[in-house]
Parts: sequence; C-alpha cells; structure tokens
Amino acid sequence: MTDYPDLQLFIDNTWRKTADTLPVLNPATEQEIGRLPIARTSDLEDALAAAERGFRVWSRTAPRIRAQIILRAASLLREWGAQIAPSLTMENGKPLMQARMEVIRGAEFFEWDAGEAQRLYGHVVPSAPGIRYTVVREPAGIVAGFSPWNFPLSQPARKIAGALASGCSIILKAAEETPAGAIHIARAFQEAGLPAGVLNLVFGDPAEISSHLIPQDRIRVVAFTGSTSVGIHLTEMAARSMTPVLMELGGHAPVIVCDDVDAAAAGRMSAVRKARNSGQVCTSPTRFFVMEQSYEAFAQSFAERASQVRMGDGLNADTEMGPVANHRRIAALDALVEDARAKGAKVLCGGTRPNGPGYFFPVTVLAEVPDDARVMREEPFGPIAIINPVSGLDDAITRANALPFGLAAYGFTHSAANVDRLTTEIEAGNLSINTLEASVAEVPFGGVKYSGHGREGGAEGLHHYTVTKTISHRME
Ligand code: NAD
Repeated sequence: MTDYPDLQLFIDNTWRKTADTLPVLNPATEQEIGRLPIARTSDLEDALAAAERGFRVWSRTAPRIRAQIILRAASLLREWGAQIAPSLTMENGKPLMQARMEVIRGAEFFEWDAGEAQRLYGHVVPSAPGIRYTVVREPAGIVAGFSPWNFPLSQPARKIAGALASGCSIILKAAEETPAGAIHIARAFQEAGLPAGVLNLVFGDPAEISSHLIPQDRIRVVAFTGSTSVGIHLTEMAARSMTPVLMELGGHAPVIVCDDVDAAAAGRMSAVRKARNSGQVCTSPTRFFVMEQSYEAFAQSFAERASQVRMGDGLNADTEMGPVANHRRIAALDALVEDARAKGAKVLCGGTRPNGPGYFFPVTVLAEVPDDARVMREEPFGPIAIINPVSGLDDAITRANALPFGLAAYGFTHSAANVDRLTTEIEAGNLSINTLEASVAEVPFGGVKYSGHGREGGAEGLHHYTVTKTISHRME
C-alpha cells in the first residue's frame, strides 16, 4: 500500500473511476496528492440499485455473522494502522500520532456496534390469554450517510458501523477533501467478505448527491455529521418523504472552571486539548468560563502552554498541531479574531498566521471577550479559545446555556454540590466533569437544541437504524 491510496468510488463491491475528478490537497503544503472521481447520476442510480440488493441479503443475515464480518474489517484496520495513518495526515493535516489514534478509534466504533448487533432484542408484552404481543426491532432499510472532513476515518466509521450492525445497507458520501479514510474502510470490508451492495461509497458535488439520494423512497434513514445549516437543509429535504434523520451538528462547547480546582493544571490540560485536530472537533472546548478567584492562574497557564504548541506538518514526528484542513477555515478564523479584537478582546497568544504555504493557524487565546463578538456565538471550528471570568456558578451556567447549541459541555470542580448543579442544569447531550473527553464508543453521543438529533454509539446507537414492529397474535 502506498502512502496515499488510489481514489475511486466503491459501488456493488467494485471500484470505479469516472471521467470528472476533483483535486485532493495536502493542507500542510497546498500540493495536490490525488484526484477524486466525481459520481454521475448513473453512478448514484447504480449505488441505489446495489444497496437495494445488498439490503435484501444483509437484513436477512444472522446478526452473529454480521458481527463476525464487521469485527474482521475492524481487525484489518487495526492491522493496517501504521500504513494508512500517513494518508489521513496528508489529506487532513493532523499529526501522525493523532491519525494512528483515529484508526484505532474507528476500529473501536466497529467493535462496539458489532457487539450491539447481537443485542437488538425485542420483547413480549404480557397480555390476556389467547393473544400475544411481540415487539421486534428490524433494520430500517437503505441509509444515506454524509460524513465530514475533520476525522476522515472515524467519522465514516460511525455511520457505517451503525448502519451495518443494524442490518441496513448504506450509501456513504464521505468528504471530498478527505476521501482516503472511507476508502480504507471500504477496502477492509471488501477483504472481510461483506456481501456486494451493503456498503457503497460515493463522492462528488455534496448538494447534487444529497438532493438525488434523500428524496428517494428507497432511502429510509439520513445520517449526517456537519454544520447546523446543512443539517437543517437535509432534514427539511428528508421530511418530504418522512425519512427519519440522525443529525450530529455543530457545537460551541462551554467549560466551567470552578475555584476549587488546580486552575493552572486545568489551564494546561485545556490548551493541549484545544490543539487536538487543530480545534476542528465538534466537542472542542471553546468558551471557558472561569471563576474570578481562579481566572488569572487559569488564563496564564493556558496561554503559556498554548504558545508552546509545536505547529507544523503532521508528518514530522515532533509536530503537536498540524494545519487546519482547508482555506475556508483560515478565512473564518481570521475574521473571528479580527472581529473580537476590534470589539475589545485581549489576544493572550496566537492570532497571527505564519508566512509560507499551508493552512497554518496557531492556538489563539482570546480573553475578556465581549458578548457581542461573533466568536461568542459562532463555532470557530479551529484552534481558538475564549477565556472569560464569571462571578459564580449561576453566572457560568447562564452563559454556558446562552447559545442555541448543546453538544458537549465540561466542568472542572471537586464539589459534589457543583457537580449536581452542572448535571441537572447544563443543556448538552454530553457533559464531562474533570475530563475533556466527551465521546467514546461505549456511550451515546449527540446533541440537543441546534446541535442535532439522535445518538451514535452506546446502547442507543443502533436505534436510529432500526424500526420497531409490533406483532399481535391471536392464538385460537
Ligand atoms: P459546510 O457547511 O459547507 O459543510 C459541512 C459538511 O457538510 C461537509 O462535509 C460538506 O461536504 C457537507 N455538505 C455541505 N453541503 C452539503 C449538502 N448540500 N448535502 C450534503 N452534504 C453537504 O462547511 P465546511 O466549510 O465544510 O465546514 C464548516 C463547518 O461545518 C464548521 O464550522 C463546523 O460547524 C461544521 N462541521 C462540523 C463537523 C462535526 O463534526 N460536527 C465536522 C465538519 C464540519
């Protein structure tokens, strides 16, 4: 296997190229590393027909056998980890170590859902003699999945794992900017013996593909991860055919730092976490609300550690943070920093881009940011942190809940009373206390409010890919 794979569509267990292609760029160098074939309408129709055939076979395959194939694919990904990680770094920019971790994380999603595939229990409801009510969960049908560019392998893995473990077939449109991750997964499933048509991979114009697939009656689930605006658009489209949606959308994660913790240690830990994936994580800690007593120590240690982050090409062994994934992020981050600066925010570190090629943007710490700055409301989706003082827990919780988002939220405290208040009052799908980890395979992940709908992972992860059927049986 070379460092960067040959890019192709995967339809009906066959790899295919098309005449029209898109360039794939390395964000660290802005050099082209591959050409991605664009799916034509006929390719999408082929994928739909294949997925229909695939669904007929796969939905009737014993869950135990489904699990075996999924586990085999996961084990191949683990085996290939060292070989395929550089391709994720090349297309996305993340440091090699994070790319290695991402492959493992992708494998974990498959392994967890393979286990859940075998526990899609139904139940029998007690009733009068002579009648039996049985409730079963069945695979929903063909899934149209859309995964973004921030985690080229683990984002497609989430969607494919949920669909396949439930007995659904899937047509996945992975991100055009980072196609290699999904291609490695498709190759692993092909080798693992997945029946034809169960997994289909397409790329092209996102709007053309979604507007062709989603209105089809054959599509029974739409699963999307990306921005809230696109999520709303796809949800509206799906509503016309009453197709259920699983939407994992934007966040703007608040972090409440209470005055009973080691503020300097929390600051250092937060700076390292902010740099992860160059801040392009929907759970990235962004709005830090720090109690006044701890504010100076937290802000100072955060800025000090952030300014030490070694930024560079992710393929270099000592790089801690790579570039952001594309030029759109650079433009967005520049605009947010300039706006905050103009409105009176202090820039404790970062804020200025280095010269030279590559989409590099340093970890930038903005302090005492006024509420009318755009960055207080708009998800930066990059390495920008906001640190503001708060007068107490009431103030912190009010500010944390002030936005229409509710994906991840964090708290640092050792007080049981504070934990109780955060647990009950914070509006978020995932709350983490004294840790900045928000999403692992074994627990459900997803948002409230404009951060989306539905859960991936955990015992709940397969719900959205199944339908509940009730059988009433009168026994004469
Ligand atoms: P964008 O809103 O144009 O695209 C977001 C994602 O949606 C991309 O993967 C894109 O391919 C896809 N997409 C866009 N239009 C689509 C359509 N009509 N049909 C189907 N898919 C479509 O913006 P972008 O510049 O790529 O990303 C910026 C924003 O997206 C970020 O600010 C962030 O909020 C959000 N984002 C979120 C996540 C996440 O993990 N939740 C991941 C990546 C991006």
